[in-house]
Amino acid sequence: LAALLVEIAMLYSRLAKLNEDLEEKANRDALTGLYNRGWFDAAYAREHLSARHRASPLSVLMVDVDHFKQYNDAYGHGAGDVCLRLIADALQSCLRRQDDAVCRYGGEEFVVLLPGCARDGAIAIGEAMRVAVRSLDIRARTQAKRVTVSIGAFTSDFGDEFAVDPLRAADENLYRAKAAGRDKVMANALPAIVPLASSVASMPG
Ligand code: GH3
Ligand code: MG
Ligand code: MG
Repeated sequence: LAALLVEIAMLYSRLAKLNEDLEEKANRDALTGLYNRGWFDAAYAREHLSARHRASPLSVLMVDVDHFKQYNDAYGHGAGDVCLRLIADALQSCLRRQDDAVCRYGGEEFVVLLPGCARDGAIAIGEAMRVAVRSLDIRARTQAKRVTVSIGAFTSDFGDEFAVDPLRAADENLYRAKAAGRDKVMANALPAIVPLASSVASMPG
């Protein structure tokens, strides 16, 4: 009976480990190894709630690779995939804190979640990421320029009266970074501050 109990305990522990591995795999993006969109959506909802509850800042960076279609068209999707992996590693290398996370949002877009990180810190990390990708010095033969990223940053300070949804605001700032010529970090405050409730209500999907 003792041997049987030991056997059952061992099986349970193996099962728990397998479950853990499976859960970890389900949260990861197969190409880059970064956290995936599913993990991000849950983490964002959790951190958003926690930041509001504790009245602490929450920063979000939206990162999009510039002119990436041209790179794929020049070298094919295999080389494009290698490029995305290198960019993912470069972004990841700029994180400093345990709770910071880079996730693949979809395609050639990444999102960075920085709980408790104030505006200056978020801009510094965004700038470090921009430089890190630039420093990879990846070029397509059809492009004169290096592969770069544009970054939209936003910090919601939930102690403020006009709290906005940082994900949506970071996305708007990303479009500003693209419009300003790409290879840039844009973190300006939104001119029209959208209250959180209506910003969530008007989000697509
Ligand atoms: P912009 O500077 O405006 O962002 O231009 P862009 O070319 O990066 O943007 P666009 O949305 O036109 O193209 C994105 C391209 O990213 C399309 C596709 O070729 C490429 N892409 C998206 N996901 C993957 C992927 O998983 N692997 C590879 N190799 N390419 C991908
Ligand atoms: Mg894109
Ligand atoms: Mg792009």
